[in-house]
Amino acid sequence: MTDAELDRLAELIARALLDRGEASAPMASRATWLPSPVRPAPSERVAEPPVWSGAAQDLGDVAPTRVRQEPPRFRASTAEMVRATRAAAAGKGPPPDRARREPERRLTRQRAAGAPSVDVHIGVSNRHVHLSASDVQTLFGSASLTPARQLTQPGQFASTESIAVQGPKGRLEGVRIVGPARGETQLEIAASDAAVLGVEAPVAASGNLGNSAGGVTLVGPMGRIELRRGVIVAARHLHLATSDGRRWGFRDGDLLVVRCGTGPRAVTFHDVLVRAGDGHATELHLDADEARAAGVKTGDIAAITAWQSAVVQKRPLVTERDILHLARRGERVPPNAILTPSARDRAVALGILDR
Ligand SMILES: [Zn+2]
Repeated sequence: MTDAELDRLAELIARALLDRGEASAPMASRATWLPSPVRPAPSERVAEPPVWSGAAQDLGDVAPTRVRQEPPRFRASTAEMVRATRAAAAGKGPPPDRARREPERRLTRQRAAGAPSVDVHIGVSNRHVHLSASDVQTLFGSASLTPARQLTQPGQFASTESIAVQGPKGRLEGVRIVGPARGETQLEIAASDAAVLGVEAPVAASGNLGNSAGGVTLVGPMGRIELRRGVIVAARHLHLATSDGRRWGFRDGDLLVVRCGTGPRAVTFHDVLVRAGDGHATELHLDADEARAAGVKTGDIAAITAWQSAVVQKRPLVTERDILHLARRGERVPPNAILTPSARDRAVALGILDR
């Protein structure tokens, strides 16, 4: 429900209450839900009473009165408020419409020195292919794959079958198939494999094939498939179990900094993507090139040293007083701010609201 709709609803409720009050009986004026407000009558001669005067307070938006007429309004005009506030802000910062807009910053946290490190197991992914059901049929002439062993990620298995991949420059034999079948065939190779094949495969998250490469042929015992797309260098990622995510405060889409290996060839990897949700077992997936560079193998321990949250900071609550401070500093209302009704009015009047 928008603010305008809320205002409209409040007005309708107030009207209904007023109507009922009048209909009940003119004599029973004391039986209404609110006592009649006691206010000094506005002076006829002076247009604007002093601000401390009760008459200067517009009670109409606080509680409706029984008197069905427009309550007298003695607020300064909006135009006058704008002029006064602009005058007060003059000389302090640029005018509001030229104010710089800060981009929303991502929160970066560094593990404090001495804090217990978050350690995870490394799983090295060798080159492999995920096949669609129809491609399994084409390559092997059968409807399903034969599991050889279960992988760490629940439900996934390495199959006994394997294929060859032919590229423009070279060929890879015995490429593993990871089952079960997927919606779209996807070949995940290391950068050095791409060089062997002679294709320019982009680094991409698994399943994100928008920019993926093609131009290779999958060769099975019963058939061949020319891939037009689906060849990627899988982005390094951390599969995260739900319970660990809760414990460590990481969420799907976060980016981690992870230190792998020991000694002179230890490597710190940046932008390690968190993939969380049901059906993930916590494991850091590196490809063969990355693992070799850091001198690590499957089962080794890696340490998460810093992380970036994918979630933007909490939305600030902005009051009317904050709006005045913003205007004085020549700033605009942050685009993600939650505004109180009076703050919204003031921000609109000052022209520093972008909505
Ligand atoms: Zn993975």
